[in-house]
Amino acid sequence: MSLMPVEEAQNQLLASIPSLGTEELPLTKAQGRILAEDLAAHRDQPPFAASAMDGYAVRAANIKELPTKLQVIGEVPAGTLFPDKLNNWEAVRIFTGAPVPQGADAILIQENAERDGAFVMALEAVKEGEFIRPVGMDFKHGDVLLKAGTRMDAGNLALAAAMNRPNVTVLKRPKVAILATGDELVLPGQDPRPEQIVASNTFGVAALGREAGAEIVDLGLVGDDKKAIAAKVQEACNAGADILVTSGGASVGDHDLVQDVLTEAGMALDFWRIAMRPGKPLMAGKLNAMQVIGLPGNPVSSMVCALLFLCPLIRAMQGDKDPLLVETGLLGGPVAANDKRQSYLRASLSRDDQGNLIATPFTGQDSAMLAGFARADCLLIHPPFAPAADARSPCQFIRL
Ligand code: AMP
Ligand code: MG
Repeated sequence: MSLMPVEEAQNQLLASIPSLGTEELPLTKAQGRILAEDLAAHRDQPPFAASAMDGYAVRAANIKELPTKLQVIGEVPAGTLFPDKLNNWEAVRIFTGAPVPQGADAILIQENAERDGAFVMALEAVKEGEFIRPVGMDFKHGDVLLKAGTRMDAGNLALAAAMNRPNVTVLKRPKVAILATGDELVLPGQDPRPEQIVASNTFGVAALGREAGAEIVDLGLVGDDKKAIAAKVQEACNAGADILVTSGGASVGDHDLVQDVLTEAGMALDFWRIAMRPGKPLMAGKLNAMQVIGLPGNPVSSMVCALLFLCPLIRAMQGDKDPLLVETGLLGGPVAANDKRQSYLRASLSRDDQGNLIATPFTGQDSAMLAGFARADCLLIHPPFAPAADARSPCQFIRL
């Protein structure tokens, strides 16, 4: 039985990315979303020459000798406009963010001024333009500050608001339907019989999917029953899922029915059985426009396969050009020679004195051991047929 190399399977999956529609959202709902179009500023920022400090708007040329006495003709707090023009030997009390009155060309900061009733004494000289933020210093009306494909992170949300753009058109999130299969499964809290297993895969896979930017539809649990599985597949189609993720029932046992059901429903198989450990029984295919990813049931295998295949696909659907997120570092301990399957070793991650990232594999690597997975910081990639390697050999890993 020939197994497909991991990279080949990933490339095949990422070669045909289903396209997503767009939707317009208020900024309050747009966090983490990907802009679908360029966003231009609808304002100059600042929209007027603004004071950067509390103090007095003055003419720099007036303050030659020190101290210089100026007449205070009024005040201008932020959010107001000073109605008159400032003449020689005059000053206007001004506050941070307020428009600089006409005729003024500098701000005398209040630390360098001494107020005396209707007058103010300038104790220091000022330079023309000092503490004035010119119109459009940050950006100008029409400037395209956020390009299509940009993720709306905290800074970009604040920027869009300042640009006076309350709504943004973003890519729809990929809709991922998740179905857990297995006669033995019960939900956490359902008081399992001794022979039953608490279903955990959907919880982890859904969290990974959400982190990658997907909207999750939880199809719940289904037994190893063709009709019941087929009904759930139909439910995924009806929900308009872009991706259907199944877990369990992916091997060749009498109770592994997922692929049969999908094939009977019309799925075209992309690949099945990958040269990897854990996760060999991974399957992918297309049911009409819906991408299907069949994860193995083993809890660690399902998480590793979701990280390697589902998450990159979700990221790529949102325009991510480098969705695999492989990093490089050094081994923190020796690794034995490998066979034909690429291994993903649960490992801790730390930094040495020189700042290198050090990945140290755990001793227990059973694909049913979730506690080890949950404790791991990364998956250390151990390529097929790699010879034994000592600590501090270069390595690649994927962060968890
Ligand atoms: P399968 O791929 O159906 O042969 O399942 C392989 C192993 O994973 C079995 O021990 C199952 O009990 C276990 N398993 C399957 N699905 C889940 C799940 N959703 N949560 C936890 N364990 C599971
Ligand atoms: Mg099963």
